[in-house]
Amino acid sequence: MPDYATVTADYTRLMTKHFTKGRGASKIRFVTRHHNAGISTTDQTWQTWQRREASAHYQIEVSGRVGQLVYDADTAWANGDVAANASAIAIEHSNCGGAEQDWPIADATIVAGAKWAAALCVFYELGRPEYGKNIRDHKNFYGTGCPWHLAADHEGRPGKYHARWMQVAQDHYDSMTRGTPTVSTPNLLQEIWDQLRGPNGKGWPQLGGRTIVDSLAEVHAKLDTLIKGMGK
Ligand SMILES: [Zn+2]
Repeated sequence: MPDYATVTADYTRLMTKHFTKGRGASKIRFVTRHHNAGISTTDQTWQTWQRREASAHYQIEVSGRVGQLVYDADTAWANGDVAANASAIAIEHSNCGGAEQDWPIADATIVAGAKWAAALCVFYELGRPEYGKNIRDHKNFYGTGCPWHLAADHEGRPGKYHARWMQVAQDHYDSMTRGTPTVSTPNLLQEIWDQLRGPNGKGWPQLGGRTIVDSLAEVHAKLDTLIKGMGK
């Protein structure tokens, strides 16, 4: 499992060329989704890009393993657009079949890629994953079919993996950002105590200046008397 909290990948093999050191004046603003148009491990992708003028920050393998090839602080040559490259963290998703199967992607790969994108959104404070905002597709910036069935718009309709990917990304973002109580336990107990005692401990005007505890005790005593009276 990769470390979501620190966005540390399962495996790192850094490109020695075909990326740009730093991000110039730009900062990370969104994640771009890609598919390999091939079945590829991180090592195989590394080999391909060392020979070709291309790169991405991450490779999601068929198993769901997350590989890092370019550090987030550097610019990957992924989107065919200089400005988009400088603002993006690019995630490649391996296919699990070829062109004859129309480039399928395994669910483990979809889930891992989506969770990784969510972790990046948390870490870089990009907000909840939302397509068109902090989640974009390669084809938004360049004349390409990439990321094929992952795309929000694949040949005029949502790609068949788009909804699943977005759902997992949003769920994972929610689970990572949940669990920070807005009121700490001691504060919550104090709040309950103050409610019972009334403003400044002087009881509630609605209860004739009595506290909730005193009022309940009074109600209890009256009921007690009534019940005893009914028994006679
Ligand atoms: Zn692409």
